[in-house]
Amino acid sequence: MASTHTPAHPAGSAAGTQLLDHPRPAESEIAAPEAEANRHRMPRQTRGASPLLGVTAVAATLGATGFASATPAAAPAIEASDEAPAGLSADPGLALAARIQQQADGQRTAADESARLQAAKEAEAKAAAKEAEAKKAAAEAEQAKAAALTLPVRDYNLSAHYGQSARYWAHLHTGLDFAADTGTAVYAVGQGTITSAGWSGAYGYRIVETLPDGTEIWYCHLSSIIKGSGQVASGQQIGKVGATGNVTGPHLHLEVRPGGGAPVDPETWLQQRGLNP
Ligand SMILES: [Zn+2]
Repeated sequence: MASTHTPAHPAGSAAGTQLLDHPRPAESEIAAPEAEANRHRMPRQTRGASPLLGVTAVAATLGATGFASATPAAAPAIEASDEAPAGLSADPGLALAARIQQQADGQRTAADESARLQAAKEAEAKAAAKEAEAKKAAAEAEQAKAAALTLPVRDYNLSAHYGQSARYWAHLHTGLDFAADTGTAVYAVGQGTITSAGWSGAYGYRIVETLPDGTEIWYCHLSSIIKGSGQVASGQQIGKVGATGNVTGPHLHLEVRPGGGAPVDPETWLQQRGLNP
């Protein structure tokens, strides 16, 4: 047997010889590698133990992870349905807390919706108020425009002022003269009512307009009466400039008589209302 081993393993043959001559040392030599192997194995086992511990730790981690991941999965289930999961139904306090939380959430959502609706209502009311305000402003502007006064003639020269004296006037001049060509448009100075229209002696053809406050406006020496009665708007044409009555040339003689009484200076009266003839 040794011969067959010898060619293949010369060293082994030598060792075999040594084993035969010195069994003890050989044993110790054999034991030594064994011991060494053990020594090597020990750390390996120690290292092996670590993975084992690691596996345990991983298992624990997995277990923990499994538990941790199971918990959030279970939590929505509580919120989703009123039924507590089997694992948690054991704790009625927790289920009750979840139910209370759900109710609180529901109430909070309802409160949010209520606040949202309230805000929408307020915005709508605000928009409506704004629209009403704009309408009111437009109406007031229209009213102001209607109430606004305008000069009775557009293209003119003032040829005589109030209070002047002249040989052809019986008294001091009672009006303001707007000299303009015959046929020039005469406009109502303000919104009012034509209360008189026709021939009036020295005044020639005359229109009397009464304003809402009772002030009478006399338009005299007209060549034509366009509006002889009824309501007129401010700036509406009511007649044409002429030279009828006691005149030396075509012009509009304008008189202002508050309350239908004595005349006042038309220039002052117009200036007090923002117009500068
Ligand atoms: Zn005059």
